[in-house]
Amino acid sequence: MTTTKIWLSSPHMGHAEELYVKEAFDTNWVAPLGPNVDKFEKSISTYLGGEFEVAALSSGTAAIHLALEILGVGKDDEVICQSLTFSASANPICYLGAKPIFVDSERETWNICPDLLEKAIKERVAMGKKPKAIIAVHLYGMPYKVTEINRISEKYEIPVIEDSAEALGSSYKTKKCSTLGNLGILSFNGNKIITTSGGGALVSKNPDYKKKAVYLATQARDDAPHYQHSVVGYNYRMSNVLAGIGRGQMEVLDERVKARRANFDFYRDALKSTGLEFLPEPEGSISNRWLSCVLTDSYETREAIRVGLLSEDIESRPLWKPMHLQPVFNSCPNYTNGISEDLFDRGLCLPSGSNLQLEDLERVAAKILKIMS
Ligand SMILES: *Cc1c(COP(=O)(O)O)cnc(C)c1O
Repeated sequence: MTTTKIWLSSPHMGHAEELYVKEAFDTNWVAPLGPNVDKFEKSISTYLGGEFEVAALSSGTAAIHLALEILGVGKDDEVICQSLTFSASANPICYLGAKPIFVDSERETWNICPDLLEKAIKERVAMGKKPKAIIAVHLYGMPYKVTEINRISEKYEIPVIEDSAEALGSSYKTKKCSTLGNLGILSFNGNKIITTSGGGALVSKNPDYKKKAVYLATQARDDAPHYQHSVVGYNYRMSNVLAGIGRGQMEVLDERVKARRANFDFYRDALKSTGLEFLPEPEGSISNRWLSCVLTDSYETREAIRVGLLSEDIESRPLWKPMHLQPVFNSCPNYTNGISEDLFDRGLCLPSGSNLQLEDLERVAAKILKIMS
């Protein structure tokens, strides 16, 4: 039996990445701007349907930070954020001196619950604190309830920041994730479906939003021959070297989505006899299945599987620990229903890389079957 480590989600390079990186060296565009950045942005925009403005940035976290700033979020404002997510969804709220208000999930997509969202908004408004934005997340690539969330967003006139860090390649009613809110964000971190080693993007239909994002991301320089600044800026633009990796990765994105979805189908079929639950796609939604997740019957089973896999050098990970349970956010208001906590207790992410071989998947499944028998 092979004993090589099986990772949860590792980078998977295609054919052209090195060529585009070499191009950056050959032309000396080793800078946070250049032809690779322009072409990477263009290829994402085309992939998303052509009518979207894309600003390539240094990370998905930076994209969320800029999205909040563009929407005017500032000190002492409140921003609603899905509780079941990675901390990077919520941290930028705090960078701006604003306060996260966490909202729990529903069972169908594991994402922000529309009913609880509306309840939270009503209560905050009644307290004289209308939230400035809603951060909704397509967790593990599964689209949240977009129609319902957008209806609430329009009713209360609160914009949605669509955290699509895990959902490039997913779609909702034929529209690509990251194009469904007022502003979308993408991540190209090393573990995501495609990667630039580190990077992100802001997506919007509004050309002014892109202009503002690029302006803020390049130290907010005024239009002058010398360096002049009227507002505080950031150094958040993507490197032209890394954008070369991104250009190559965009050429294989469809293959990567196919491979991740095939992993999910493999596990679902191979583990049918175990009683482990797999989240189905609701009608109209396509998930990129960034990570294949299972729900066990208890915390104890989840841990038995995780520890058992680890003993054979197989990496798995519990679902995200909800933000309302994180020590760093324990003073933030929350609207909960027990669902995200239950998912965290019983849920496990299985190895899901697009570069996994059939024998890797078989090794994982065989071990789980053994643990559960
Ligand atoms: C990865 C991730 C981010 C942050 O993206 P980075 O590029 O790592 O800064 C934000 N939100 C979610 C849900 C993520 O998974």
